Amino acid sequence: MAPVTRRVGPVEVTALTDAVGPFFSPRAEAFPDATAAQWDAADRLDPLSVHDGEWRLRFRCFALRTAEGRTILVDAGIGSATAPARAWAPVPGSLPAELAAAGIAPADVDTVILTHLHTDHVGWAVEAGTPYFGNATYLVPRADIEAFATLNPALDGELLAPLRQTGQLSTVDGDRDVAPHVRIVATPGHTPGHQSVLLADTMLFTGDLLVHAVQLVDPALPYAHEVDAEEARRTRMARLAAHTGVLATPHLGEPFTPWPLS
Ligand SMILES: [Zn+2]
Repeated sequence: MAPVTRRVGPVEVTALTDAVGPFFSPRAEAFPDATAAQWDAADRLDPLSVHDGEWRLRFRCFALRTAEGRTILVDAGIGSATAPARAWAPVPGSLPAELAAAGIAPADVDTVILTHLHTDHVGWAVEAGTPYFGNATYLVPRADIEAFATLNPALDGELLAPLRQTGQLSTVDGDRDVAPHVRIVATPGHTPGHQSVLLADTMLFTGDLLVHAVQLVDPALPYAHEVDAEEARRTRMARLAAHTGVLATPHLGEPFTPWPLS
């Protein structure tokens, strides 16, 4: 898949598709409250994400290249054949080829922002025990590190320990400025420490603040796989109500969605 690039002021944003594949359960189970009319609206909005009535999703990362020469990666995909997502996601992903097509070497990446610690967002962060982005600082929400010690204990050895060992792990508490125009904003609920990235106040890299277009049709719709569905709903509604510009999403069919919907 050819990388898709957009410019936001002085920052060049490139969408990188690691993989495409089916969701692991029927979509009606993922969004039990969605009505037939809402599914119809979602399928019109995002026709690439439905295939024979099933949810077919992208696993996408974004690279931000700034005027100062910074290269920032938002999320790290599903990873290689041996990555933690292998149990359910269509590994191996193709992020290395996508990065190469965009002219980005792994060593060029100076910052990796992980929106949260679900396995389909951390795949290429560490490969075979070694940080894949050898020169990068990894910005990981502290609340997720604490929560996933219980939610997914294997992740400590597979992901966090190698990053600690090389001194590349930087824990994030709430909002943080990462580069000129690039800001991490806390969006808890999907996971306790979930974070999104706001670029120049116009492009919001949502992470899993939303995972399907049906949540743009109705941001109040709960998703079955949130750690705290009520907090996730509050966060999603407030953040989307406050945002005008573009949503850059990991799982929708197209990487960029104008928001609010016209
Ligand atoms: Zn996800």
